[in-house]
Amino acid sequence: MYHELVRTASFWSFLFSVDEDLAEESRRAGCSCGGRLHRAKYPRKPRGGCADLPESCGCRLSFCCERDGCRKRVTPPSVRFLGRKVYLGAVVVLVAAMRQGPSPRRVRELTELFGVDRCTVERWRDFWREQFPQTAFWKVNRGRFLRLGSADLPRVLFEAFIHRGDSREEWKGLLRFLAPITITGGLAIAGIS
Ligand SMILES: [Zn+2]
Repeated sequence: MYHELVRTASFWSFLFSVDEDLAEESRRAGCSCGGRLHRAKYPRKPRGGCADLPESCGCRLSFCCERDGCRKRVTPPSVRFLGRKVYLGAVVVLVAAMRQGPSPRRVRELTELFGVDRCTVERWRDFWREQFPQTAFWKVNRGRFLRLGSADLPRVLFEAFIHRGDSREEWKGLLRFLAPITITGGLAIAGIS
């Protein structure tokens, strides 16, 4: 089952190692002013992962420019955190996708699996139906998914990347694809800068 992998601590440790790679790329690139970046991670209290979520999931990797007068904050893309959403990104995708398709899961079932309440599920539905399709990110990328059967988001993404229930690499592919929307400005609406 798709949700079982997402409920294991090793899955989240794996995604943390992907986030560390993404962070390292940002650190090497440095600040736009030319300054060096220092680690300055954010504490997070994510929900929806698993009971024994690794401690590493209690932070979003981030940096701060070392130059006086700049001190700019640089937060790299993440495969764990979908922007400011409290729930872990994989859960936001998975729960919303499970609500769609030929045999949708009931909210009650999802509440039991992930501890996500009805209002949150509704909010995610609005996010995927209304906000996400308006983004410049989706307008640039949607072409490659149009030939696929479903037009429902996020199910079309889920089906494009996830074929087996137990593949961390497939999840990595999906979450790496979405990573650009996890940084500041990543959900900018197309045509508005
Ligand atoms: Zn700087």
